[in-house]
Amino acid sequence: MSDARPIWIRDPLAILADHAERGIVVKGGRIVELVPAGGVPVTADVAVFDAGEHVVLPGLINTHHHFYQTLTRALPAAMERELFPWLQALYPVWARLTPDALELGVTVAMSELLLSGCTTTTDHHYVFPAGLEDALDIEVAVAKRLGVRVLLTRGSMNLSQRDGGLPPDSVVQDEDTILDDSARVVAKHNQRGPDAMVQIALAPCSPFSVTTSLMRATADLADKLDVRLHTHLAETEDENEFCEQMYGCRPLDYLEQCGWLNARTWLAHGIFFNADEMKRLGNAKTTISHCACSNQLLASGCCPVCEMEEAGVGIGIGVDGSASNDGSNLMQEVRAAFLLQRARYGVTKVSHKDALRWATKGSAACIGRPELGEIAVGKAADLALFRLDELRFSGHGDPLAALVLCGAHRADRVMVAGQWAVIDGAIPGLDVADLIRRHSSAARAMQGG
Ligand SMILES: [Zn+2]
Repeated sequence: MSDARPIWIRDPLAILADHAERGIVVKGGRIVELVPAGGVPVTADVAVFDAGEHVVLPGLINTHHHFYQTLTRALPAAMERELFPWLQALYPVWARLTPDALELGVTVAMSELLLSGCTTTTDHHYVFPAGLEDALDIEVAVAKRLGVRVLLTRGSMNLSQRDGGLPPDSVVQDEDTILDDSARVVAKHNQRGPDAMVQIALAPCSPFSVTTSLMRATADLADKLDVRLHTHLAETEDENEFCEQMYGCRPLDYLEQCGWLNARTWLAHGIFFNADEMKRLGNAKTTISHCACSNQLLASGCCPVCEMEEAGVGIGIGVDGSASNDGSNLMQEVRAAFLLQRARYGVTKVSHKDALRWATKGSAACIGRPELGEIAVGKAADLALFRLDELRFSGHGDPLAALVLCGAHRADRVMVAGQWAVIDGAIPGLDVADLIRRHSSAARAMQGG
């Protein structure tokens, strides 16, 4: 780390940690000390950051996204459609994605996430039209530039309309190309260990846009390379029917047959599992990324989060792609998950602390990073600091609850691996107006306008 001097984040207005009333000390990218009420740091020679006007959270962790979709937000052709017809309207537009447009889409998505208090994000990139073979390399470069921690997934589709799948032929690749490139990006970019800033996972788009052969081969490759596995599952009722027709079984049975039902796998959505399937997921330690905004926008349904947790299934939070949210604001996603799940389960079962737990510790477990998502000694110095000086917070009682109940949407300071990635509500060096101008122009070109 460039700044060798420890930093005491002193006297926070509130902090999501026990025995840290006087703050925490970070050094070398880790949290090295919690300072209790009445105490002072044991660590010598600390620089002080006065957090007297900040609520301090562990950095939020986003477990599902499709960055390129920031280029197709609120697209009239896709609005008022459920998942399958929505996809069919968007695929031809996504087929026009170029390397320059992707770079802008990724920069916008990661910037939105960072500014909302997110310190670690996943991405699921599965659209590879000709010319976009370096999609993952482009994403890694942007992540390094912005200083955000990432788990990028090398997505895939090889079952196109020609073979009974949903996507057009122009956005799919063949199995050998997919597996070769998966091995390449893991070898080139995947870091290991608790301080890793860039990791790679493998992620067929869904079991219905890839062949059984590719599902199995991807699980084998993930096992061999020791990387994680991700896909969409149980997002809609349509999917159950599609699976019954195509494979004669339910989606989770199919997943198990393909060698995916294990602790390496995290799944986006998980709305339509029955009680027995939840138990099987819990026993297998397969986890779920809950995407509350996307599920509401596409009217897909509501993930049974409390029943999942009772069955031992870990829950994380994901904003999902910007064509079905259509924002990348993780703090707002926490509020959306809180409201949706509280409506389902009632006031005694779901609190603001549950929603914050899903987006921090829950999301960290979801992506296999137990060293993230918690303010404790030895954990990564990934933090999100919010001020409560906007109109929406005026008159609040509990500062932590106010973040969720009053609708916090913008972090004032964000620290990733001990380095400030957001200062005074801005990303140092990022010209937002210029980014919006270039990104909007790329989006218009892609949308054919
Ligand atoms: Zn998705």
